[in-house]
Amino acid sequence: MKIAFIGLGNMGGGMASNLFKAGHEVRAFDLSQDALKKAGEGGCATFGSIEEAIDGAEAVVSMLPNGAIVKDVYTAHVIGRAPKEAILIDCSTIDVATAREVEQLAADAGYAMVDAPVSGGIAAAAAGTLTFMVGAGKGAFKRAEAVLKDMGKAVIHAGDAGAGQAAKICNNMMLAIHMIGTCEGFTMAQKLGLDPQVFYDIASVSSGQSWSVTSYCPVPGVGPKTPADNDYQGGFATALMLKDLKLAMEAAATANMDPLLGRHAKDIYQAFAEAGNGGLDFSAIIKTV
Ligand code: NAD
Repeated sequence: MKIAFIGLGNMGGGMASNLFKAGHEVRAFDLSQDALKKAGEGGCATFGSIEEAIDGAEAVVSMLPNGAIVKDVYTAHVIGRAPKEAILIDCSTIDVATAREVEQLAADAGYAMVDAPVSGGIAAAAAGTLTFMVGAGKGAFKRAEAVLKDMGKAVIHAGDAGAGQAAKICNNMMLAIHMIGTCEGFTMAQKLGLDPQVFYDIASVSSGQSWSVTSYCPVPGVGPKTPADNDYQGGFATALMLKDLKLAMEAAATANMDPLLGRHAKDIYQAFAEAGNGGLDFSAIIKTV
């Protein structure tokens, strides 16, 4: 399949290269020459503009920083210019309202477009083991799935336009709350005299278990290897978690809801980022407990 890929950063670079490895012709564009060069080394054909990259494309995939950029890329460069039969797939994490707006603009111009944000970080993008949560009508989902399956381990139909973004921010709001709770539990257990490894052995098979405990333990030297074992470098940056929590709060406001713990988690991550820790993995929040 002829696939245009826009946005070849930390995530998009690995994803585009996996599409190439699966046998697709990948036509790449990024504003960054460095990102473009790496994509070329990963097997993609590189182009100097979006218009050139989408020429003749059967699918357009994007992995971009935020909603304003996604809207600009699609309205100024893709919609009306890509072949009408191309399926448009935005994998970026953006606000639900912008996702719905851009998908509607695409539909008005005769395109099928889906939102397909991911769970899993840079390592999963490189390994092709992402989970995609897709907001799409049924027909569009099947067409997007044919492309997404080559970049992930699971492709799940979340519902209509915007449902993928809604699932993503609800999931990450839960993750932020679980992580802070896990940090409080482990810190308190230690202060009460428990060995952290012993507490891990208990909590990981008891009702306090969560992904934050078993797969991403914030205590160095406990559980599988995580960013905690690398001084909280790498992994999922605090700044990105804060971005997702802000999107969650925006979405909550449109749903007339005030998620108390979600808002509190957002405030805690915001203070941590503003203190200069935005580049640390989000499990470093244990430093504030
Ligand atoms: P990144 O900053 O590494 O990559 C974004 C790329 O987009 C950059 O290479 C940039 O040059 C390019 N870009 C920006 N504006 C552009 C434009 N107008 N046209 C073409 N290219 C443009 O970011 P990332 O970590 O790859 O994240 C991308 C998306 O994935 C974000 O929405 C993020 O929230 C989401 N995400 C990231 C992670 C993660 O762990 N990094 C995990 C899940 C989801």
